[in-house]
Amino acid sequence: MWIFVLTVLCARVGAGQELPAPDAWAALNQGDHARAASLFREALERSPRNPVLLYGAGWAAFNMGRNDNAISSLKKALEADANFVQAAALLGTVAYANSDLDLAIRSMEKAAVLAPRDVRIRAQLDQWRKESALHSSFNERPGLRFRVLFEGAQQQALGARVQEVLESSYWTIGKTLNSYPGEALTVVLYTNKQFQDITRAPAWAGGEYDGRIRLAVGGAMRAPAALDRVVRHELVHAVIQNVAPRNVPTWVNEGLASVLEGGSTAWVSQALARTAELFPLEDLSAGFGHLDGNDALIAYAESAVAAQLLVERVGPNLGVFLQMLGNGTGVDQALSTVNVRPEQFYAEWRRRVGAR
Ligand SMILES: [Zn+2]
Repeated sequence: MWIFVLTVLCARVGAGQELPAPDAWAALNQGDHARAASLFREALERSPRNPVLLYGAGWAAFNMGRNDNAISSLKKALEADANFVQAAALLGTVAYANSDLDLAIRSMEKAAVLAPRDVRIRAQLDQWRKESALHSSFNERPGLRFRVLFEGAQQQALGARVQEVLESSYWTIGKTLNSYPGEALTVVLYTNKQFQDITRAPAWAGGEYDGRIRLAVGGAMRAPAALDRVVRHELVHAVIQNVAPRNVPTWVNEGLASVLEGGSTAWVSQALARTAELFPLEDLSAGFGHLDGNDALIAYAESAVAAQLLVERVGPNLGVFLQMLGNGTGVDQALSTVNVRPEQFYAEWRRRVGAR
């Protein structure tokens, strides 16, 4: 991705010519987004309408989870240069992450016109149009904090139930994580097939959070308590995203969602008892989507044990802890700051998961 972005931009500014604010691009490339953002800001003070700088500032803001800032910078980049295809494509990506499907499609359409041969732009646009067409046939239960989309009359009762669970969990989960999302959250109820089509999630997933909560509700009326858990689980992800948009290891994110979804936790010890081999916690930082159902269950169980420990040891400082992670602080450093000794934390985790 990076090499792609930089080569295209170099081609844009002209062969042999340097990108403006090379330090800022280098910082961005090294993952130091805060430094990149501040260097772009400085450069923009001198050239406020330079589209490449505005684009860079948009990237940096997006990488820091500041989607609104990113959108504003990218819109300005396109005002300064209406033919800036990368800015249009990135604006689409950020808008989608920000749950603004209309702006996402409009921007990607612009990118597709500017780069008609780009198959990735075309594929992304097709996927989003499919999603938009599906949602346009859905009913909506508007709400202050949640707008729930669902299909047809038979899902009406489910929609009402989901909204009720969301409303009642908003304050309890918010209090635990010290974060209360201010913007209305979109929640979409899909049949199992629609869910697979739209999310391309692994077959074991029943819900997903990617800026909006998506739920697979096929058969949910036969197991309403299970649906409630999935709803709370995805709400936890949304709340975590609100306090720490980036850099939260998967075991923290999934672990907290698994612990705070409520219900029986017997599955945790059952899963751990069945397996001879455990994943080291540091291997559970970058997503579970590639795991098969059984490995995923073990990964979730190990994460749940770790998160339970976080709830016990970090307690009322969980919000601060997550905020630090979101600002790029490592887990160990963040634990130490809230007076939890990392080596003790990991030793207790190993004891509880039964690591040999
Ligand atoms: Zn999850």
